[in-house]
Amino acid sequence: METEAPFKEIIEEIKELGGDPINYCYQCGKCDTVCPWNKVTNFSMRKLIRESTFGLTEIELEETWRCTTCGKCVQKCPRDVRQIDDVVALRRLATGYGVSNALLKPVRSAATSLLAEGNPFVQERAKRADWTKGLDVKTFTENMEILYFSCCYVSYDARLMEIAKATVEILNKAGVEFGILGTEENCCGESIRKTGNEELFKRLAKDNIKTFIENGVKRILVSSPHCYHTFKNEFPEFSAHFEVVHITEYVTELIRDGRLEISKEYNKKITYHDPCYLGRHNGIFDEPREILTNIPGLELIEMTESREESLCCGMGGGRVWIDTKMEERFSNIRMKDAVELGAEVLVTACPYCIIALEDSRLGLGYEDTIQVKDITEILREVI
Ligand code: SF4
Ligand code: SF4
Repeated sequence: METEAPFKEIIEEIKELGGDPINYCYQCGKCDTVCPWNKVTNFSMRKLIRESTFGLTEIELEETWRCTTCGKCVQKCPRDVRQIDDVVALRRLATGYGVSNALLKPVRSAATSLLAEGNPFVQERAKRADWTKGLDVKTFTENMEILYFSCCYVSYDARLMEIAKATVEILNKAGVEFGILGTEENCCGESIRKTGNEELFKRLAKDNIKTFIENGVKRILVSSPHCYHTFKNEFPEFSAHFEVVHITEYVTELIRDGRLEISKEYNKKITYHDPCYLGRHNGIFDEPREILTNIPGLELIEMTESREESLCCGMGGGRVWIDTKMEERFSNIRMKDAVELGAEVLVTACPYCIIALEDSRLGLGYEDTIQVKDITEILREVI
């Protein structure tokens, strides 16, 4: 087994690649106590940081690729070690060295497709707007209120397309002048960046920024918290500043402004799963709850691990492309939590979470016990 150490250059490289705070770690182990991996197997971020400090990390092992960048350890670390930056630096190092293993095969395939077609599915760019067939969706023009940027997942995946369709129904009902850029759009690149492929991320980001500027985009509406995070927090690295709103924020705004009215009841007991990139990473906890509690008949019950303590679904950090053993899926725990609580519907606001939770629902045999829905799918039924 290859060990990259103890070369001083490795440590310097990690620092240069954004992992400088590794040196602040005093090995308290708080990160390991909150990491969701330790609910299903053994994984130590503390150890990974320690080994990195000495340049002793075996970067080809799965451990380098486990972190889902959920952010739970980052918020608990007493020394501001910024574990996500560190692990992404390690992955950049591994990518730079051309590290390859079976686990990363789908990541390579996604990267090739992102480069060629702007989506990770080996799907044609020309089909990116096919989900709009039969719907009232226009191409974005400068005088419109907002650009709806439908992420790759909701544009191409049959299940997730329902999120885009529901969003369109909501926008049209509220009389919003919106448009899409369809085939001109590229993946936001959030996941590929977290796998360590910085070059490809930069290319996707620059192409999207160019497209937005050329089309006079100022305000962007997104379904995915991953697109939200990238456009809002990472585009400023390229001096690109757009106003970015997640659908939960936008619907809250539409309801408050009296543009969208909830006119029907939803007589079900539901629980809400906070997506990491909406909640912990971007502080959007209240808006989804405000929407849900405004729906007559709906009973919102909270899981123990909610808001800042929400349990990751397991799909972040590029893990959406990496196979996770059935018994190691965090989303299984989440589904069991929701079922034990007596919820009839598990609602969330992220396409990645929907993939994981739907898989767990079927894998655990809960087809007739509970439904998994995006918040837009509930709204569609009550407006
Ligand atoms: S919580 Fe922070 S200081 Fe403690 S072991 Fe983890 S990285 Fe190090
Ligand atoms: S970011 Fe989340 S998955 Fe990654 S090490 Fe920290 S707690 Fe674990």
